[in-house]
Formats: sequence, C-alpha cells, structure tokens
Amino acid sequence: MKLIGAHVSASGGVFNAPRNAEEIGANAFALFTKNQRQWQAKPLEQETISAFKQACKERGFSPNAILPHDSYLINLGAPETDKLEKSRDAFIDELARCRQLGLTLLNFHPGSHLKKLDEAACLSRIAESINMALDAVPDVVAVIENTAGQGTNLGCRFEHLASIIEEVTDKTRVGICIDTCHTFAAGYDLRSVDATEKTFDEFDKVVGMQYLRGMHLNDSKTPLGSRVDRHDSLGLGEIGWDCFEYLMKDKRFDDIPLILETIRPEIWHQEIATLRRWAA
Ligand SMILES: [Zn+2]
Ligand SMILES: [Zn+2]
Repeated sequence: MKLIGAHVSASGGVFNAPRNAEEIGANAFALFTKNQRQWQAKPLEQETISAFKQACKERGFSPNAILPHDSYLINLGAPETDKLEKSRDAFIDELARCRQLGLTLLNFHPGSHLKKLDEAACLSRIAESINMALDAVPDVVAVIENTAGQGTNLGCRFEHLASIIEEVTDKTRVGICIDTCHTFAAGYDLRSVDATEKTFDEFDKVVGMQYLRGMHLNDSKTPLGSRVDRHDSLGLGEIGWDCFEYLMKDKRFDDIPLILETIRPEIWHQEIATLRRWAA
C-alpha cells in the first residue's frame, strides 16, 4: 500500500500532528518532535506521549507511516569539536524522543564539511556520529536524507550515502530518505519515466533499494544540477508529473512514508488525492 502524507504542523503539541494529517487525507505524515530551530527542548511529558500514541492509534497511523525530522541545527559531520559534541547530544535526544513516542524512524540531513574537513573525513565523521547515537538509543532507525548539495552539504551524491552506510556498524538500523527535489537539484534527472527509472537504477546499484525507508515528494523550482534547494508544488516545477506517477505505480515504493514538503499546504489534499488515483 502507498503511505502518502505531508510534513504537518505539530504546533500546540505533537499529538496535534495526526489530526492535521487526517484532515488532508493522508495515511502517513512527518513532523518535528521539537522546535526545529532550537537546540534545547523540554523533555516530553508522559501525558503528551500518551496523547500522541492515542491520536495515532485512533486514526490508524502506525510507526512505519511516520517519518519524524530532526532539527536543522544539527551537523553530524561538524569540523569543530564543540559543535560536533553539541550536534551529537542533540541527535541522541531526537532519537530518544522518537523512541518515547513509539516511533521507529528519524530522518536527518547528513552534515556539512564547511570547507574545514575533506569530504571523506566528513563522511566518516557522520558515520561515527550515527554509530554513537545508535549505541545510545535502541530501536530507532537513522534515516539519512539525500541533499541538493547546497553549500558544503554532503549527501548529494549516492556515493556519499553509500560510504556513510558502509561505515555504520548496524546496517539494520540505517536507511535512506530520497527527496525528489534534492535528487534533481543534485543532478539526477527525473523529468520523464525513463529518466526516473535510470536514476533509481543508479540508486539501487550504488546504495541498494533495500535501504530506502522513506521519501520526500517535492517538485523543484531550480533546474537539473543547480545544487539549489527550492521546493515547488507537484507538477508545477522543473520535474513535472511523470516522476510522481512512476513512483505511485511502482511497488518498490509501497509501505514507506511518502511525504510532501511542497510549498502550498492549502493544496496538499489535492496533491495527495492525485497521487492516490495513480496508486490505485
Ligand atoms: Zn526533504
Ligand atoms: Zn529541501
């Protein structure tokens, strides 16, 4: 089954996210479990945890349909020790929050070298950070998102993702989230069925489809290979509809959260309905 949703608001409390997802016809969703622009958050209260679990249960959202996203401040490949330690602590806290909420996935951006580390060293550092976090918190799978390659962000090449996975000790607890906008901006074509097929063949060859644990479905305002991350509504950007129709009709994309981060929340319900028609 296709699990389709959007990154919905958790304002007022994480327990509001399932209702926000249900309102747009989603059977999957993404959320932040804390303010994504702050380092610290107060611990989740037992009442909040229970309310979240109850809200998910009532609406039929199981953990495999929920893809929480970590804070934008975290850099697991940070060149400087103080920033690295702060990032690792914050990432461990994010994993722990997911586990408390009964969630099994945590989506995050790999990290940036900031021109102070070479690429290989930064990728190893990211893998080391993941290993430390997986040791500290059981159960939750670390889901690395591919990036557009903006600035010094790593993770724009499938080879980057493969090299991080290579160095993660417990391969059962590491996965990948492919963002279509980032993929396209990083230089992998998705503008036709043939191009999309070729891009996923490449992903399978370099990383392996078995690692795909979620996707972000976004069109791109910027052209192929721009390395600039600007999301657009589905079908209205440089990618176009073919890619999304292809994904909906291919069984390899069943049973993982497929999450919209498109720019007009007011049409999310329409975008989801269109995707569902193809999936059927
Ligand atoms: Zn994304
Ligand atoms: Zn993006």
